[in-house]
Amino acid sequence: MKNSGPVAIIGAGLSGLSCAQALRAAGVEVRVFERASAVGGRCATRLWQGHLVDLGVQYFTAQTNEFKKELLTRLRQFRPIISPILDQNENVVSAETGPRFYVLQGNNYFAHVLSLGLDLRLNTAVETVRPSSGGLECLGETYRAVVSALPGPLTARLFDLPFAPTDYVPCLVGLFEYAGTGIGSARHCYARLLPEGREPIFSSYCENNKVGRIVGDKTVFVVLAAPRFSREHAASPPEKYLPLLARENEALWQVPAEKATASFGHLWVHARPQDDHRHRVDLPPGAFLCGDSRAESTVENVWLDGVQAAKQVLSYLAEVGG
Ligand SMILES: Cc1cc2nc3c(=O)[nH]c(=O)nc-3n(C[C@H](O)[C@H](O)[C@H](O)COP(=O)(O)OP(=O)(O)OC[C@H]3O[C@@H](n4cnc5c(N)ncnc54)[C@H](O)[C@@H]3O)c2cc1C
Repeated sequence: MKNSGPVAIIGAGLSGLSCAQALRAAGVEVRVFERASAVGGRCATRLWQGHLVDLGVQYFTAQTNEFKKELLTRLRQFRPIISPILDQNENVVSAETGPRFYVLQGNNYFAHVLSLGLDLRLNTAVETVRPSSGGLECLGETYRAVVSALPGPLTARLFDLPFAPTDYVPCLVGLFEYAGTGIGSARHCYARLLPEGREPIFSSYCENNKVGRIVGDKTVFVVLAAPRFSREHAASPPEKYLPLLARENEALWQVPAEKATASFGHLWVHARPQDDHRHRVDLPPGAFLCGDSRAESTVENVWLDGVQAAKQVLSYLAEVGG
């Protein structure tokens, strides 16, 4: 495989990075393009008010032996979340998918570890990929194969497809800091999950349950807004929607509003793929997909899907004479 020429991976989220590492392990030269100045995509961690806060992925599962092995060999610094997740009736939401884990240094650290050793081009957006003689053209160079590890609508734009492999709904996230530790019911549980259709909160997490993340005598919540609320407020400035989320979150955790010390809002535009909006798309020869435009949107599944996409690229290269 050494002479097969570089394969381009567009997007350095977990799926793109896992695909890149699997190809690299098979001896294929890969080049990863990432629009942002850092890797990880929706597996994002933010240094906020001195705390390390997970802004996207809150926790991950490790159900498959393949993913467990990856965590143990490449990462190691991950821990289970001990406190329960409760539903609206204060019942424990069973962990059917096994223990929930987080990374001590912030969940984004997993992406950082996955990017080590790769030919990674940060701050480099790829807007179009076009068939050209001998492969696919991307940023003026020809690649034998290109993998889009982008959310569906961005993949559609990349390959000029008539529709996206899947549609996505946006998600607003609010970070809320309060004076005092273990306030309200924060000492009893890690997260609260609300039923589908209930607005404006979808789920709320207390970051104090992750060891060493919160500094000083503070409590920090990460609140994921529900789909309708997120859509309605997607264009609003944070000062419009944060007070609405804060009020609901304070009621949820019985936290006194006067203890609030800071808040922050973020919009994930392509947050959650809609399972009932998946379409089959025809990609040009040599083009492949990975990530949640075709796999279930969890860390473990998009990582596995990156490995799967790498296998597809390898058989393609073998077929075309790589
Ligand atoms: C708020 C939120 C909470 C979540 N919580 C959890 C959770 O607790 N547990 C869990 O398992 N999953 C969770 N998920 C789902 C999980 O984040 C995703 O399934 C996973 O991170 C998707 O990874 P990906 O690599 O497929 O895509 P992404 O992470 O979106 O990566 C795509 C990358 O492509 C880059 N990019 C975009 N356009 C271009 C371009 N034109 N050129 C080059 N690069 C480009 C982006 O900057 C990004 O880095 C959550 C998602 C959200 C939004």
